[in-house]
Amino acid sequence: MVCAKCRTLLFREANYCWKCGQKVVADLDSDAHPEDQTQYETCEIEYIDRGLGGGWYEARVGTTAIARSPKKNRFGDQHPMLLDLVSKLLADGWQPVDSDEEGNPVTMHRPKT
Ligand SMILES: [Zn+2]
Repeated sequence: MVCAKCRTLLFREANYCWKCGQKVVADLDSDAHPEDQTQYETCEIEYIDRGLGGGWYEARVGTTAIARSPKKNRFGDQHPMLLDLVSKLLADGWQPVDSDEEGNPVTMHRPKT
């Protein structure tokens, strides 16, 4: 519960606000207009190039890889691999936020649960 006057966070059993002295009344509609407090987690999509060994696309949250495309050999076409990874991410609830000049997502986010 918060003070109706100064919005200070109060203990549930408080009768008066410890900060401004306002008498506490039950704040029945404090949840009536919740602000949009959706928090998102963001992942970056990167191509991991292993040179002669080929490479793969990887989606990372911070330094943690959360999804990978299949690996390709060095002569393979990269684009289907990226699409493979992006479709996995979309199925997991991720939405593109930012894309490169070719329209491929480089950053995606989804609401935190
Ligand atoms: Zn107060």
